[in-house]
Amino acid sequence: MLKPEIIFTVDLEDWFTDGRHITMNSWNDYELRLESIVHRLLELLALYRCTGTFFTLGWIARKRPRLIRLIYEMGHEIASHGYAHELVYMLSPSQFRQDIKTSKEVLEDIIGARIRGYRAPCFSITDWGLQILEEEGFYYDSSIVPSTYHDMYSRLYTSVEHPLFPISMQLWELSMPALGIGRAKLPWGGGGFFRLYPYSIYQYGIQAWLSSGKPFVFYIHPYDLDPGQPRQAHLSGYHYTRRYYGLQRAEHKLAKLLKQFKGRSIVECYPFLQHREQPKRVTL
Ligand SMILES: [Zn+2]
Repeated sequence: MLKPEIIFTVDLEDWFTDGRHITMNSWNDYELRLESIVHRLLELLALYRCTGTFFTLGWIARKRPRLIRLIYEMGHEIASHGYAHELVYMLSPSQFRQDIKTSKEVLEDIIGARIRGYRAPCFSITDWGLQILEEEGFYYDSSIVPSTYHDMYSRLYTSVEHPLFPISMQLWELSMPALGIGRAKLPWGGGGFFRLYPYSIYQYGIQAWLSSGKPFVFYIHPYDLDPGQPRQAHLSGYHYTRRYYGLQRAEHKLAKLLKQFKGRSIVECYPFLQHREQPKRVTL
């Protein structure tokens, strides 16, 4: 039986690089933990013959170029998650331009191929950010969560008709799923929410989303699969729970997900997002 397909994405960064509590000038003080987790993730993807898009932080890529090359050589897509994981709306337009330029150059040097996709740290994209992405040669962004639930997400859109839509002639958006439950619109793409929701409910949400004919974009961080990561004791109760809840079970849950759904990278699903020439009609 053919498995239903989902778009599988990874925000490739480590537990201390989200920039919210540990600033970049002390990142070098911490040991990177993501390498062995990424190896296990790659094995899991290979086992179920899945591909994924890895939105990679430039700083991480500089530290682990061989890992990034390996991911690419195993048939996955490498895209940008910026260089320093700073929230887009906290930067000036020129700072943002510099950040994405650096990340793009670092990644392109490592894999020897063009980088086309971008995902903003904490989904913090802005309208001027989208314009700069286009100017810097990106073909798609995947940073919009049409939900008002999260404290960090951009409020750029609170609803979208179809997850994949053109922002301009050259730049497309592939937005994240947010499930309408009563009046609430809950983020359903993954990350902490994947750990938080029981699997039976989570997969039911994916099925419901897919049955409406829309592509489902899943995402996960290596640290979502790292029960041994150091705990940041100063986090508030809410942030502490969101960050550490369900870590022990997450890898098992992920294996279940990949057994049930066929994961594919963004450009495998939508090859036109890799090329300058876009078809007149896009089959969604
Ligand atoms: Zn991130």
